[in-house]
Amino acid sequence: MINLIEKLERKHSLSLTEYQTLIENRTPQLAEILAKKAEAVRQRIYGKDVYIRGLIEVSNICKNNCLYCGIRSGNPGCSRYRLTPEEILSCCEEGYGLGFRTFVLQGGEDPHFTDELLASLLKEIKSRWPDCAVTLSLGERSRESYQLLFDAGADRYLLRHETADKAHYERLHPAEMSFENRMECLKALKEIGYQVGCGFMVGSPGQTAATLAKDLKFVETFQPAMCGIGPFIPHDATPFKEEPAGSFELTLYLLSILRLIKPDLLLPATTALGTIHPIGREKGILAGANVVMPNLSPVSVRKKYELYNNKICTGEESAQCRQCLNRRMESIGYRIVTARGDIKSEV
Ligand code: SAH
Repeated sequence: MINLIEKLERKHSLSLTEYQTLIENRTPQLAEILAKKAEAVRQRIYGKDVYIRGLIEVSNICKNNCLYCGIRSGNPGCSRYRLTPEEILSCCEEGYGLGFRTFVLQGGEDPHFTDELLASLLKEIKSRWPDCAVTLSLGERSRESYQLLFDAGADRYLLRHETADKAHYERLHPAEMSFENRMECLKALKEIGYQVGCGFMVGSPGQTAATLAKDLKFVETFQPAMCGIGPFIPHDATPFKEEPAGSFELTLYLLSILRLIKPDLLLPATTALGTIHPIGREKGILAGANVVMPNLSPVSVRKKYELYNNKICTGEESAQCRQCLNRRMESIGYRIVTARGDIKSEV
């Protein structure tokens, strides 16, 4: 196994079977070795800086019915909301004052958010806060739409691929959704010029070491700017309510591997990681992550954007979240910086 890790460190690449072997033979000792190497690599490029992204959950209205997701269209118990452009702008304003220089507009696939609405919102954000980056995370749209939003000022787009295995994708999604379309969207986003984020849940139903190996290979070949991974956590109003949550330790292990695959990758220690472990995000940073994404949504809607049960930070004000994360990062010798936090090319 040590040979595989050294090879990965040297070549930033392994074969599918090698990735699978590395996953299947995970031990606490190997996890520690990987984490040390990942930390050193991340340190070389990003130092002790942690980038923050202000997450604004713009709508929990969604036309899709993903089997794992709490805001799926088939959940009648979900109390639906969408923010107005004015509400979104006030979140940005508050966030700017708290040191955020990236705003992530995330939501369900809500047809209300037309190209026209989003383009005018993007122009407004970019004119009021020209030193900020805007990331969109609004699911699958047409290439034309992605192009129009890019032209209106969007810098980045987060669209987790969810799994790089077609059969596994079909197990997680209803028949109307397609693996090919998701992959086409990611390709289009990259061609248009976005800094693109992909990603996947760890421990989603049906996931195996072989499907995870494909996820790692996909990241290696697609070369995204960002990759969001976090444990699957069941939601009680979904068909997966009885499924176990994904493994915390495996998530950390994969974070370290991803760091070695792509040293300059923007890698968040996600809210899901902080949900299944009290110091999950700190451990994520220590395993090689370099981004955290605190919630900037109005407190009144936070509980409603319930992708999974027991999500953290749904009662706090944005300022409290920022201070709490400051303390958490300082407790492990890192610091949150006020910066756009673009991907850095290797020095
Ligand atoms: N509609 C947008 C945003 C999705 S929400 C899109 O399609 O991209 C962001 C991410 O939350 C999803 O990509 C998914 O990977 C994750 N997620 C959804 N349900 C989850 C669950 N039950 N446990 C953990 N993560 C979940």
